[in-house]
Amino acid sequence: MNIQGFQKLTMLDFPGKTACTVFTGGCNLRCPFCHNAGLVLSPDEAPIPEDEIFAYLSKRHGILDGVAVTGGEPLLQKDVGTFLLRVKDMGFLTKLDTNGFFPEALERLLAEGLVDYAAMDVKNSPEKYAFTCGRDAVDLSKPERSMRLLKESGIDYELRTTVIGGFHTLEDIEAIGRWIEGTPRYYLQAFKDSGILREGSGYPLPEEEMTAMRDAARQFVPVCELRGI
Ligand code: SF4
Repeated sequence: MNIQGFQKLTMLDFPGKTACTVFTGGCNLRCPFCHNAGLVLSPDEAPIPEDEIFAYLSKRHGILDGVAVTGGEPLLQKDVGTFLLRVKDMGFLTKLDTNGFFPEALERLLAEGLVDYAAMDVKNSPEKYAFTCGRDAVDLSKPERSMRLLKESGIDYELRTTVIGGFHTLEDIEAIGRWIEGTPRYYLQAFKDSGILREGSGYPLPEEEMTAMRDAARQFVPVCELRGI
């Protein structure tokens, strides 16, 4: 697997668990507000050998609960399943982040029992999806299928939207809520300008505006919380 980053400890990336985070290189999308621009635009720079990760994990039994795999887009990696299997064979839980555009790969991993927790991005309302992904057009049947797969999988999962001024309005969040109705858990994440935006710009929204968006989404999703406020 093309690993371009490794964070040895996170209390945030894997809800309720102590974990490390592995960042894979490359992404099919070009979100203008991407905070992992380096992973997206230079996906092949100095990969970290998998063995380094497994050597680290072999000394973290009883300290870490799991491994979060994020990107970039991890499902672009042909051997992500092999990596997750090895992690699970070592006795750790796995968390997968995805933008939802690779339902076939997701289905395989779910069928093989390789994902314990998944987080899928919902970039925006259907009408503004392509704009928010930095693409002229996107095939929304793919994230829709990924959402269905997660719903039917029986694993714990969340959908989440990073809320960005200039990209998201209250009406957009309502439209997302209507679209994902029935999802058990939905998070609205505050945008943090990391200073390494790939292009364009966005800005964080005030807490009151985020709270109003959360309340709007709660009409459709039983659990909707703010994150990073
Ligand atoms: S899906 Fe994620 S990694 Fe890919 S461009 Fe968008 S924000 Fe960046």
